[in-house]
Amino acid sequence: MGNAQAKSYTVKILSFLRRLLFPPRCRVCGGLLPWEASAVGVSHIKERCLAFYQEMAPVMCGACMRGTKVPEGGRCSICGVPIEGVSLDPPRCGVCMAPNRILEKVVSLFLYEGGPAHGVRSLKYHNKRALAPPMGRLLYGAIEEIGAVDLVVPVPLHLSRLRKRGFNQASLLCEVLEKKGYAVAHDLLLRRRNTDSQAGLSRKARLKNVQGAFEVKEKRLVKGRTILLVDDVLTTGSTLSACGRVLRSAGAESVSALAFARRDTGFLQSAYHKTAGWRAT
Ligand SMILES: [Zn+2]
Ligand SMILES: [Zn+2]
Repeated sequence: MGNAQAKSYTVKILSFLRRLLFPPRCRVCGGLLPWEASAVGVSHIKERCLAFYQEMAPVMCGACMRGTKVPEGGRCSICGVPIEGVSLDPPRCGVCMAPNRILEKVVSLFLYEGGPAHGVRSLKYHNKRALAPPMGRLLYGAIEEIGAVDLVVPVPLHLSRLRKRGFNQASLLCEVLEKKGYAVAHDLLLRRRNTDSQAGLSRKARLKNVQGAFEVKEKRLVKGRTILLVDDVLTTGSTLSACGRVLRSAGAESVSALAFARRDTGFLQSAYHKTAGWRAT
């Protein structure tokens, strides 16, 4: 038996013993995971949902992964907001038709429900950091939809929130992108006001809430660069838009955004348009 072969046997035996001693558990519900992950019993399945099941199977059980959906149906091709009755091809919402829009492109991987929502909540509120690497790999798999990126910037938490939680989930998600060779500026943006708890606010109130909330710490890193903002959840886009606005004012060539999941708020194009969205004003 060669040296390399012996080594590979040793690795196999060690990982077998490790599984016996520390059987892996679902990071969402705590249940034991099956010995061989086989979460997929469906033949017609979206490629990205399949990727979710494959990536998450070592850290999530089948029941917790259920209800994984990608954003589809009539949506704006730029920002992904659901729209109705727009005959443009590719479809665009009123906000994204404006030539001076802030965000070049916004990609959300999943809908914020079922498996992806469980993953996000367990990572963020229950400190299950083992969920971050597979979620980051899923983001990495979608980055080509954005195009060229010079610099990746996670959406920051307010310092008080960061101290309480101990980590910024968007930063953890970006660690995979960093390992894959992307430049990531973890502390480039500063959140001056704690605007995290936006739940229950209307889109208009959210936009007002985040105005002036962000600051670019090192403008020289931004000038002339193509920037990708990363966040775990997108709701109305007001946070991403506020970050995009300060980055553009600091001289960024363009700003796009990648979110793990999007929560559709039920705002359709008409209501969305009236609130001036993420347009530069
Ligand atoms: Zn579970
Ligand atoms: Zn749009």
